[in-house]
Amino acid sequence: MEGVQEYMSAIINGQEIGQEIRNEVAKRVAHLKERGLTPGLAVVLVGDNQASATYVRNKQKSCEAIGMFSELVKLPEATTQEELLTQIQNLNEREDIHGILVQLPLPKHIDEDTVIATIAVEKDVDGFSPVSVGKMMLGQETFLPCTPFGVMKLLEYSGIDIAGKHAVIVGRSHIVGKPMGQLLLQKDATVTYTHSKTPDLPYFTKQADILIAAVGRANFITKEHVKEGAVVIDVGINRDEHNKLCGDVDFAQVDGIASHITPVPGGVGPMTITMLLFNTVQAAENTFAQTN
Ligand code: NDP
Repeated sequence: MEGVQEYMSAIINGQEIGQEIRNEVAKRVAHLKERGLTPGLAVVLVGDNQASATYVRNKQKSCEAIGMFSELVKLPEATTQEELLTQIQNLNEREDIHGILVQLPLPKHIDEDTVIATIAVEKDVDGFSPVSVGKMMLGQETFLPCTPFGVMKLLEYSGIDIAGKHAVIVGRSHIVGKPMGQLLLQKDATVTYTHSKTPDLPYFTKQADILIAAVGRANFITKEHVKEGAVVIDVGINRDEHNKLCGDVDFAQVDGIASHITPVPGGVGPMTITMLLFNTVQAAENTFAQTN
């Protein structure tokens, strides 16, 4: 019948998948605690950015919910780079801290690259340091950046085959787009990166079996970007013109065209914190294995 969609896209539920993984992580935490080791995450927050403060609070709450120890290192906006580096070096040395996360963005007078590179690689649970990124590129064991790692888990738990598929990534940031393509490549996808200088974006996105939107523009991906039956993963977290939370994908338009789609909220969002916890318990297990 005209105007009636033949089928609805399957919703990839990040809330449920995230909870399933967090339950597993909680078991691993309990196992370590029985052996006298409590996994600990230090979260470093510099300045008064309200959004950052909210993210940090959520991360701490999530740690506590699964029995991990978390410590907030809250520093004033005027903190110098040297002072911040000293704080990180102290955290690198501490035996009760297994993961270190520096909440970005940092105040303008601090060089983020230098700060991130100072985090000990065995505690770099965000996977942002140059050594972690290099290891990821080489396919060596390391902490994977939480958002793309979370997307890989969404695909895995949803039973979506990656090998041989054409994955198109919209966005090439260091924290999402670039590592996303690498992780998909490692699982034998054919990967195309697109970005703001890509002419005729729909030409590329329409070829995607797996389409990842990491742009940061509300409802940017519409039905003309999506091939029928594609898996559509929406990383974006934006506000629409009514100040309502929305993704990079116009869900209403793409629902029914995609075979699978992630909603916003409740898709990729819950996976990012989940994978941070996953990496932190892994860091603690690595320490335990080295000292026992
Ligand atoms: P960035 O702003 O760092 O990168 C955006 C990318 O989109 C850039 O590579 C840019 O291209 C590209 N882009 C911008 N406009 C266009 C366009 N018109 N056509 C094609 N590509 C375009 O953002 P992030 O990667 O940090 O984040 C992307 C989104 O994901 C945001 O909404 C963010 O809030 C969200 N996010 C969600 C997370 C989660 O937990 N779910 C975690 C991290 C981010 P160019 O490089 O050429 O400028």
